[in-house]
Amino acid sequence: MDLIRAGIARPDHLIDINDLPLTAVEELEDGGLHIGALARMSDVARTPVVRERYPAISRALLLGASEQLRNMASMGGNLRQRTRCAYLRDGVSPCNKREPGSGCAALDGLNRGHAILGTSERCIATHPSDVAVPLVALDAVVHTAGPDGGRSIDIDDFFLLPGETPEVEHPLAHGELIVAIEVPLAPIARRSVYLKFRDRQSYEFALVSAAAALEIEDGLVTGARLALGGVATKPWRARRAEAALAGAPADAASFRRAAAAELEGAVVREHNAFKPELAIRAAVRALSEAAR
Ligand code: SF4
Repeated sequence: MDLIRAGIARPDHLIDINDLPLTAVEELEDGGLHIGALARMSDVARTPVVRERYPAISRALLLGASEQLRNMASMGGNLRQRTRCAYLRDGVSPCNKREPGSGCAALDGLNRGHAILGTSERCIATHPSDVAVPLVALDAVVHTAGPDGGRSIDIDDFFLLPGETPEVEHPLAHGELIVAIEVPLAPIARRSVYLKFRDRQSYEFALVSAAAALEIEDGLVTGARLALGGVATKPWRARRAEAALAGAPADAASFRRAAAAELEGAVVREHNAFKPELAIRAAVRALSEAAR
């Protein structure tokens, strides 16, 4: 919607879906969480079952945007928001997302806020959502409806890497609509953590964020979830780090080794070379808080 206001996107038709009955936030019979696609961010954040069982989701919502925006913005819209890359939004710079094949001004431009994971030579834009980060960590599922019926998409598959086609950001077909997000029941989520690091404390996107949850027995990690925001072209499930944590002592040294393993594949540009270390420190701090 913001790109339409800026004159960058020019859809032939604009359909108001706000009257659809998709605002419920409720516990499912199997203990999971159902979030209607039109549920407002602020309503989801303060729902008791979200705060108690999925604190990282509540926290990520409260750290996103401004209070006014949180009162208006929907969960489905949050997942579908576009990158804040300034070159996409200025309407004139080469940008493969806006005009496929035109190039990417960010590669050699001002790329301090851009991605270091999941990038391609076509696009290095970060995904801007906060709440998508814990949703990815907690294996959420996106439910859709469309002309051919409905389907369920693992949220990690809902966000596409740029590859050769950065203009294709999601697997939704024409006429297909997000109707709900479900988060499975997971005891590990009860003590989940979301941390966000940014240039200023209010109304700013993450330079780096981290969602973490741990299960620990006898001082060893028996279950780990870790996802990173602000550093990748999609909300980034840190599977290498999770694998490195399996069976490791639940201490800062293990957390740092695991985070460093995840960042091994980082590709930095002129202005964002600080991000790997910042991401490692964010992950270590989030894991340390989840271990308490
Ligand atoms: Fe466009 Fe992506 Fe390059 Fe930004 S990083 S200018 S969105 S292609």
